[in-house]
Amino acid sequence: MKNKQHVRNLKQQSLDISKVQHQHQRMSSHKTHADLAEQFNKAPERVAWHDDTLWFVRQKRDNAARGVEDWEILRETASKIKENVLSRLDDYLMEFEARALENGIQVHWAKDAAEHNAIVYSIFQKHGVERAVKSKSMLTEECHLNDYLQQQGVEIIDSDLGERIVQLAEEPPSHIVLPAIHKKKEEVGELFHRHLGSAKGEKDAKVLTETARQHLREVFLSRKIALTGVNFAIAETGEFVVCTNEGNADMGAHLADVHIACMGIEKIIPKREHLGVFLRLLARSATGQPITTYSSHFKKPRKGQEMHLVLVDNGRSSRLGEESFRNSLKCIRCGACMNTCPVYRRSGGHSYHTAIAGPIGSILAPNMDRKQFADLPFASTLCGSCTHVCPVKINIHEQLYQWRQVLVQEGHVDKGKQLSMQAMKVVLSSPALFKLSGKAGRKVMSLAPFALNHRLNPWYKQREMPKVPTSSFEEWYRKNRKKDE
Ligand code: SF4
Repeated sequence: MKNKQHVRNLKQQSLDISKVQHQHQRMSSHKTHADLAEQFNKAPERVAWHDDTLWFVRQKRDNAARGVEDWEILRETASKIKENVLSRLDDYLMEFEARALENGIQVHWAKDAAEHNAIVYSIFQKHGVERAVKSKSMLTEECHLNDYLQQQGVEIIDSDLGERIVQLAEEPPSHIVLPAIHKKKEEVGELFHRHLGSAKGEKDAKVLTETARQHLREVFLSRKIALTGVNFAIAETGEFVVCTNEGNADMGAHLADVHIACMGIEKIIPKREHLGVFLRLLARSATGQPITTYSSHFKKPRKGQEMHLVLVDNGRSSRLGEESFRNSLKCIRCGACMNTCPVYRRSGGHSYHTAIAGPIGSILAPNMDRKQFADLPFASTLCGSCTHVCPVKINIHEQLYQWRQVLVQEGHVDKGKQLSMQAMKVVLSSPALFKLSGKAGRKVMSLAPFALNHRLNPWYKQREMPKVPTSSFEEWYRKNRKKDE
């Protein structure tokens, strides 16, 4: 009887989770990256400042990388370690679980977001707790855990400063390392004035940070459950490592009676000796710091404390089986590919309508839902800068290109684009047609520019009509080559 009730509860919880996920899908289903980028670009000042700020972080990363003589060897080593992990992921996960259980950690497995959320909530129910503190975890963003728990009547306070800012603003994070990078300090001042009682008009970063500290101190001291993410899980020891700059994960986990850590199954590394490779790369790639301020190892619960670890698949094992896309599982979530991406910097994180924005988000999201995220691999110039900075050498821009092919072949791009690509194929494969259409195009551009440059053509929304050339390149070349001879 008890079991039946438990299964009924889990089913009901899964339905609730689907409701949350559908709400998210509804919120974004009718808006593409281009639509949302257009909204972001309505405030050119913010775009310029967002662009400059992230480029500054990219430059800090470059300086930090230049300071390490064996940087490229480090990247190669990290990539090879992850390659090995992906080739034996099941073995390492079993080894990790066995060691973690020996250490006294309670290990849970979740096949998807719904199971993850249900497991976390069951721990809350077991302890009769309705309030908790949570440090940054992109996995819980991916699973929409906050929304789900809120629906169950559980209050979660995010303790990372950036996360708390976006939580107060009722927005998702726009960047995986700098969640509130799209917010100006005046806006943060306004939010803190409304929610945390700081003085009206206060915009001094130090004062605002102190306000958040005071507010969070009470939260840390009063919450019985603390949630954290996981940056690395070490198979040989069964411990996991959480990296923060604010020490907020430690404050939460050390003060709470129950620590729940949530991790994607790809976070495994084989040995402790491998950790140094990743720690040297992570902070330098993320913010240009030599190391994160806190790299905390959690190996076993302290006396009287419960420690839970939820290992989540949520599409990762199917990605592992796709040869062209599997190495996206090497990602250590440093955010360097976002900071360098010219499209991300000028369109903002929210334009990607998924938990993880930017180039890496654009190759991860279509794995989850091809139709919903079919626009994302096209939100790129394919310049390759993301691949160039990635500390674990993921071929991001090549995967973006490969995703475009998969999405077109599977019919997930809009009919207009499919038809125009078919037409281009015909034109580009016939020299005679190519010349003829070039001529016709130049004529139309000079005699009837309005036929192309109108409001229905999105290409011209932010562009000027270029000066129409009088001849094709081929004609110009023939003429000028003859002159030189
Ligand atoms: S794909 Fe590479 S650069 Fe981008 S967040 Fe992941 S590890 Fe960092």
